[in-house]
Amino acid sequence: MAKHELPEVETRLFIDGNWQDGSQDKHPVINPATEEVLTEVHWGGAAEAETAIAAAEAALPDWSTMAPAERGSILTKLADLIEADVTRLATIMTMEQGKPLAQAKSEIISNVENLRWNAAEGQRVLGDIIPSPDTNKWLVQKQPIGVVGAITPWNFPSNMIIRKISPALAAGCTVILKPAEDTPLSALALAELFEKAGLPKGVVNIIVGDAAAIGETLTKSDVVKKITFTGSTEVGKTLYEQAAPTLKKVSMELGGHAPYIIFPDADLELAVTTLIETKFINNGQVCTSPNRIFLHKDIKKEATKLILEKMAEVTVGNGLDDPTTGPLINEEGRKKVEEQLKDAQNKGAKILFGGQRLTEGDYQHGFFFEPTVLDLVTTDMDIFYQETFGPVIPLIEFDDEEAVIQAANDSEFGLASYFFATNIHTIDNVSKKLAYGMVGVNNTDLESSATPFGGIKHSGFGRENGTYGVEEYLVEKFVNIRTAR
Ligand code: NAP
Repeated sequence: MAKHELPEVETRLFIDGNWQDGSQDKHPVINPATEEVLTEVHWGGAAEAETAIAAAEAALPDWSTMAPAERGSILTKLADLIEADVTRLATIMTMEQGKPLAQAKSEIISNVENLRWNAAEGQRVLGDIIPSPDTNKWLVQKQPIGVVGAITPWNFPSNMIIRKISPALAAGCTVILKPAEDTPLSALALAELFEKAGLPKGVVNIIVGDAAAIGETLTKSDVVKKITFTGSTEVGKTLYEQAAPTLKKVSMELGGHAPYIIFPDADLELAVTTLIETKFINNGQVCTSPNRIFLHKDIKKEATKLILEKMAEVTVGNGLDDPTTGPLINEEGRKKVEEQLKDAQNKGAKILFGGQRLTEGDYQHGFFFEPTVLDLVTTDMDIFYQETFGPVIPLIEFDDEEAVIQAANDSEFGLASYFFATNIHTIDNVSKKLAYGMVGVNNTDLESSATPFGGIKHSGFGRENGTYGVEEYLVEKFVNIRTAR
């Protein structure tokens, strides 16, 4: 295989254990680093969603009553297959999504860990025995919720899928998944392995196609008992509304606009190095990306100097060459970054580094943008409130602990937040008061198979990963047995 050749991958829909053509015109998949058409995928809509719902419903009785250890061994087999196929899966991801190959590989490996974790956790779904009067036995059983509709975004096109499918399957549910239109191949490549792992037909179905039609079919169906969505707040609200008439259980992993606060007593080298490493993961196209950098006035000058020094080491390029960071996902994404920068500059912000689209030489094609540092950011600018999803580090000065907490919380979002400090009172006070679902103190590692991932406010509700993630796919049943006449 030549370096820039797409590995072989399915382009059809995966329904009821079969690969099938879509009923609508095929759609191109574009490489964001070259703007080349990689391939065309089959495209479905409401009809395919209905068929997939029926398949998932038919598969549910056997799957949900299978011994948890047996389900676990299929998930473990899937993990092994993914691990053995990491290079191909990562190459497909880099080519359709743009992220550097090393990041794509680590995303695939996180899938392996997630599947192994949930394979075991599915065997620990315990119920309760509640102390009762002598005449009765009070039992609480946890049962799979049933058929699940899952919709995922393009920024982590493999892990967002596994983070849903793996606990759902471990809990005994069956799934219909709709991946993002920009990155369908990563989803279809996984489906090839579902087959090989021995997942019974209909247990997972993948439909690429018309988002609104598929979303509406899944949310309105009475067969589907749960919707799990990761994506923008705007689409999340639409799906939540659509799911209301059937009173479905819903989980929403939505947008974020993470504050990143550096207090004057912080380990500055650690804070700045971590900022640069975290910001350029996936070119800033991450719901937990540090998007508002609050620097205490006493260290602002030194911190800015350090940031600029480290920015000089950030490389941009085709993800297959493993630079620090790749292109943005599409032209729309690039324009959004430009608009936020223009608005900020018009209102007095200063660009200290970068700030332009990259269009010459190797960047002639593809949606590249310079890594950027923006200073003097204030609350009248769009970038202060709108999710950026790009390679921009906006700097904001502060001088008071309570005021910076208030400024950090001044956002409709409430997903990830970070701060760097050493004073124990500051650490306790700030971590208590940040209105976010997750707080990283002196680090930014908020994602692991064991820990709850999710937000509050307009970042959504529900948790993925860990015991909390499995609970999302279970319902409690109270059984009261009369044991005496
Ligand atoms: P998006 O536009 O909301 O799309 C997400 C998914 O929803 C895609 O599969 C999309 O399909 C589908 N969709 C779009 N319109 C729909 C509709 N009317 N009905 C049903 N489905 C619909 O978001 P995105 O641009 O792909 O992803 C970026 C967003 O995801 C950011 O806001 C980011 O913060 C958020 N995100 C959150 C988390 C988290 O865990 N909280 C993690 C990752 C990303 P098409 O692609 O086919 O349009």
